Amino acid sequence: MSLHTAPTESTPLSAMFSLQGKVCLITGGNRGIGYAIAQGYAEAGAAGLAIIHSSSKTSSIAEARADELRAAWPSTEVAVYACDVSDPVAIETTTNRVAAEFGRLDVVVVNAGLYSDAKALDMAPEEAQKVTAVNYFGALYTAQAAARVMRANGTPGKIIFTASINGHMILRPQRESIYSASKAAVCHLTRALAVEWAEYNIQVNAVSPGYIDTEMNDIMIEKYPDQVGNWLKDCPAGRFCKVWELKGVYVFLASQASSYVTGADYVVDGGHTCH
Ligand code: NDP
Repeated sequence: MSLHTAPTESTPLSAMFSLQGKVCLITGGNRGIGYAIAQGYAEAGAAGLAIIHSSSKTSSIAEARADELRAAWPSTEVAVYACDVSDPVAIETTTNRVAAEFGRLDVVVVNAGLYSDAKALDMAPEEAQKVTAVNYFGALYTAQAAARVMRANGTPGKIIFTASINGHMILRPQRESIYSASKAAVCHLTRALAVEWAEYNIQVNAVSPGYIDTEMNDIMIEKYPDQVGNWLKDCPAGRFCKVWELKGVYVFLASQASSYVTGADYVVDGGHTCH
C-alpha cells in the first residue's frame, strides 16, 4: 500500500499524522513560519525536506538552518535551494530538481512572502508589482510546478498555501492594501485549485495566520510601536502567536489525517477575525 493512500478505519492515529516516507518542499523554509514548518515535518518523520530560500544572499542562513535540522533529525534528508519564486522558470526548474534528487514529491508548502505597508495613494507601481509577483504570482507558479510533478508522477499530493488573516479582513491602522489583496487572492486560489486538481488526487489547502512572532512581525512592531497594544486588544487571545504553534496545522494538512480536506483555509489567529 502506498504511504499516501487514504487511511482506513483501523489506521492508528499516530500513523495518520506521520509524514514517514514523504518528501516535502517548503518555500521560505529558511526562517520564520517556514522554518517552524520544516521542524514540524522533520519531527513528524519526513524522509526529505527541500528548503527553498530567495537567493544566494541568504544561502548561509539557509545552510545553517539545514544543518540544525540534520543535527536534530538525522533520518531526514535536508537540501537547500536558492530560487526566486516570482520567476516561473526558476521555480519550475527547482521543483523538478527536488523531485528528481529526492525521487518523489508529496507535499509542497507555498509559504514565501513579502510584506508591504505602502499607502495606496502613494504606492509606486513597482511596489505593487513586487509584492504581487511574490505573494500571488509566486504562489501560483509554485503550485503549478508542484501539481505538474504530481500529475506526471501519478502520485497524490498536498499543496498548502500560507495565506493570512489579511486575506480575510482589513487590519488597521497600518495600510496594507496590496499585501491584503495578494493574500485574498491566495485564499481564493486555494479553493479554485482544490476544485481543479481534485481529479489528480491533489489536495489544496491554506493556513491563514494572524500576528505571528517572526521577523515580518518585528518590522511592524518597529514601525508602529504605539499600536502593539491595540493589535493585542483586537485579538481575543491577547498575545502574538509563536511560530511553533503553527506546526500542528501544517502537519495535519500534509498528513493522512486530512484525507478528506481540500479547499479549506484554516485561520489560526487567536480569534482575531471573529469580530
Ligand atoms: P519572513 O519575512 O520571516 O520570511 C519570508 C520568507 O519568504 C523568507 O524565507 C524569504 O526568503 C522568503 N521569500 C521572500 N521573497 C521570496 C522570493 N522572491 N523567492 C523565494 N523566497 C522568498 O516571513 P514569515 O515567516 O513571517 O512569513 C511567511 C509567510 O507567512 C509569508 O507568506 C507571510 O506573508 C505569511 N504570514 C506571516 C504572518 C506574520 O505575522 N509573520 C501572518 C500571516 C501570514 P529569504 O530569507 O531568502 O529572503
